[in-house]
Amino acid sequence: MKKKALILGAGLAGLSCGYELARHGLDVTLIEKENEAGGLAKSFRNNKFTYDLGPHRFHSEKSYLIEHIKEILDNKVVIKKRKSEIFLKNRYFDYPLRTANIISRMPPLILLKIFFDYFTTQVKKRFKDVPDNSFENWVTNRFGTTLYEIFFKEYTEKTWGLSCSEISSDYAAQRISLLNLWDVVVKSVFKTKNIPRTYVSQFYYPQEGGIGNIAEKYMEKIAGHGAKIFLGSEIKTINVSSSGVTSVVFESNETSHSESYDYVCSTIPMTDLVSLITPQDDSKVKQACSELFFRSIVFVYLIINKPRLSDNHWIYIPGRLFLSNRISEFKNFNEDSSPPKKTIICSEVTCFCGDRIWNMNNERLADRVTEDLVQLGLTGENEVEDYFTYKMKHAYPIYDIYYQEHLGVIRNFLNQFDNLYSFGRNALFRYNNMDHSVEMGLSVAKSIIKGEKANLETATQKKWFG
Ligand SMILES: Cc1cc2nc3c(=O)[nH]c(=O)nc-3n(C[C@H](O)[C@H](O)[C@H](O)COP(=O)(O)OP(=O)(O)OC[C@H]3O[C@@H](n4cnc5c(N)ncnc54)[C@H](O)[C@@H]3O)c2cc1C
Repeated sequence: MKKKALILGAGLAGLSCGYELARHGLDVTLIEKENEAGGLAKSFRNNKFTYDLGPHRFHSEKSYLIEHIKEILDNKVVIKKRKSEIFLKNRYFDYPLRTANIISRMPPLILLKIFFDYFTTQVKKRFKDVPDNSFENWVTNRFGTTLYEIFFKEYTEKTWGLSCSEISSDYAAQRISLLNLWDVVVKSVFKTKNIPRTYVSQFYYPQEGGIGNIAEKYMEKIAGHGAKIFLGSEIKTINVSSSGVTSVVFESNETSHSESYDYVCSTIPMTDLVSLITPQDDSKVKQACSELFFRSIVFVYLIINKPRLSDNHWIYIPGRLFLSNRISEFKNFNEDSSPPKKTIICSEVTCFCGDRIWNMNNERLADRVTEDLVQLGLTGENEVEDYFTYKMKHAYPIYDIYYQEHLGVIRNFLNQFDNLYSFGRNALFRYNNMDHSVEMGLSVAKSIIKGEKANLETATQKKWFG
């Protein structure tokens, strides 16, 4: 008898796991609530345009992961040279920051203040230690107040909807791959041996379609190995005994299914997983789930009657007066994604599900983003031909200063089930990238094949977040 594995969620974590298990002869079933696979890394196509959910570049320090993605894409991969900028103080700067570019573009007084602040912070630190207990302190301790205020504060607060003093320093430690101002100077001037992720200048992208082509190819391959795939389907309950999942009830095409599986691999948001588990009456676990929050994004797409807005893959926009956080242009990822005389851009607008922005009507959103583009000098008001939006509820797990406490309670609860694996970005509540999700999927599949028990601590090992 083949062992049966159920995968919940067809993002890259679920797909890579499903692919590896199916390839090793397990009987795989995949359930996805949306009508298409790919999760945060999916693409959409209409008859003229291909577009992603914001900019997606694939990169990994691990060559076996790059080889794996090439194999999934049947070697139809291109290497792109990244180009991105940040709009600050009414001018564009290269991003990642480059010393020569900052020196030539930043007003001299501000430059002086940056260096003065940096050195006084370093000296003060020798006498009085300011703990790294929030994002604000972590960054100020390493970069000084002026640099923190110019480059980090506004963008971070806009993205998270929280003050930087309420954000955990884990966010900085995981996402800022530069140590301090001196490190910025060294890494941007000299070619160092270990290039931090921020400074990696090349990335991989599918030759055809958008980033979602990776998910599409996984789906073809998984189906080729005989997996049962249920898209647009809803999980109703995950029944458990004290040691594991006994059965899963789900609905697809108005038909209810109740099945037992040897392994359940969940990549759906951790808090949603807990709410599906029956019975579950631990009030501490419920409380912890109610205090873990996700940031949402409304993606606003504008079709513009112009061959190109810029040669940037994306532009960061920290200023509070702009609605957009970041703007990406898909033609720069794949020339064939748009007709020659038109271009499509995506503005990411971060918000909380159900707030004023989430509920703003499409016309207003498109008007506000058009105003942003005009202010940024990228387009004229009358060049926008059409618009549409897409909403993603679970875009970023929010690392507030209490999140570790709540996460610990939920991890302990989930760890008691020997055949329930929870991994992937929202399933682990880790702000990770595509390569990490793929690596987790492959790694969980390997541990299932080896007969190891599920354990969320293994899944949060640092190796996945280098
Ligand atoms: C705007 C943006 C830009 C990004 N840019 C990059 C980048 O440049 N490079 C990079 O490496 N990474 C990038 N990322 C991160 C990357 O997209 C994610 O890390 C990765 O795609 C996560 O994959 P996953 O499978 O872990 O999770 P997800 O993609 O979230 O997959 C989970 C799946 O589960 C499904 N699901 C949820 N609930 C249920 C349910 N109840 N039942 C069934 N199915 C369910 C979801 O629909 C989804 O398909 C970016 C992310 C965002 C938001």
